[in-house]
Amino acid sequence: MSSQKAEAIAKQKKQKAIVKPSPRKGRQKIMSGRNKRALLGMIKNDRKMTLSEIKNSFADSTSMVVSEKTIKRELHQSGYFCHMDTGEKFKEIAHAFEILSDEQKRAAYDRYGEEGVSETGMGMSAEDIFSSFFGGSMFGRPGAGRPSGPRKSKPLQHMLKVSLEELYTGKTTKLSLNKNVKCSKCQGRGGKEGAVKTCQTCSGTGVRLIVRHLGPSMIQQIQQPCNECSGSGQVIKEKDKCTTCKGKKFVAERKVLEVHIGKGMKNHQKIVFAGEADYQPGYEEPGDVIIILEEKTHDRFTRRGDDLFYSAKVDLLTALAGGNLYIKHLDDRYVKVSITPGESIKPGDMKAIKGQGMPSFRHHNYGNMYVQFNIEFPSPNWADSATITMLENILPPRQAAPPKADETNVEEADFTTLEPAEKTRLEQNMINA
Ligand SMILES: [Zn+2]
Ligand SMILES: [Zn+2]
Repeated sequence: MSSQKAEAIAKQKKQKAIVKPSPRKGRQKIMSGRNKRALLGMIKNDRKMTLSEIKNSFADSTSMVVSEKTIKRELHQSGYFCHMDTGEKFKEIAHAFEILSDEQKRAAYDRYGEEGVSETGMGMSAEDIFSSFFGGSMFGRPGAGRPSGPRKSKPLQHMLKVSLEELYTGKTTKLSLNKNVKCSKCQGRGGKEGAVKTCQTCSGTGVRLIVRHLGPSMIQQIQQPCNECSGSGQVIKEKDKCTTCKGKKFVAERKVLEVHIGKGMKNHQKIVFAGEADYQPGYEEPGDVIIILEEKTHDRFTRRGDDLFYSAKVDLLTALAGGNLYIKHLDDRYVKVSITPGESIKPGDMKAIKGQGMPSFRHHNYGNMYVQFNIEFPSPNWADSATITMLENILPPRQAAPPKADETNVEEADFTTLEPAEKTRLEQNMINA
């Protein structure tokens, strides 16, 4: 072996020795699984807690005093503070809470540590975990732990009833609303510059955390809005309050929105006015006003997509001998269609009129109008015997008798005219059957 080679091997050994972890600093367990859960639970509740705050809170909930060093090491092992990249950290936290929220995984974690659960992967999204475990969105809490970026306040939804005529022709309607806008005098601060102080009671989080001990290592944490600052996290002295908004940070304003109901818009279609909802202190932007269209039922037409359905009353003569049909459309125009003589339209027959339906939204391609026929027969006793004879000569012959009837298996019976109430009841039964 050359001295060069021996030197290289020695160097390799040396490097190996350096990177080899010391047995004491490996992935050994520092805390029990239960205590670890308590610790992770606390961090979720306030991700801005300092080490000493974590230490005190941990002692409060578990009656166990641990050093800040131990906590730091424990958190480090759990992947906290390891990654400065927020996405990574978020994933770590999500994973930690996935463990906490799943009984089975919790047991595996307690027994085998991180390796016991790592194969199962991410079953839930981070958002799901936070909401399933803590009964609310992680972003829903005002004040604390808020991620940066635009944050909109809640949208304002408003139902707007529209007729089929309005949806056919399109329309612009005005909608006036009272809304809160950011006070321009104090720029939404609520007072003079520097007069707005962080609430001491809740440290500016707007919420107070109440810890209840349910057992030796069982804790329940309840969040309540801070009564000192009404949950805003800020306090302003009475004399420093903005005279325009009186410290509320917003003022009421009347605003008229022009709602363009486009041709062919559909029932429940939304029209969004971005940022027109109330300004709410603590949010960077006001939310959207969302107008939801509600199509009124129509007395002549039924709409299905871009098609219209129409029930046409046709007299018997027109049905048999042809004639014209006038259908009043949604823009007050009459659509004239003809029935060919001898076509013999039957009750319930259906025909289409192409391109006389609703316009499609944006493209304005028209759907069809489907016409169903309802034949109006003459009123009772309209014809004398002479007319009947004429009919017998004109119409196709009677087909009343069964083909193989003989008088021995026929029994005579009478028709009874039904009372109107009974008729209605029977018709209902037939529809429901
Ligand atoms: Zn407060
Ligand atoms: Zn103001």
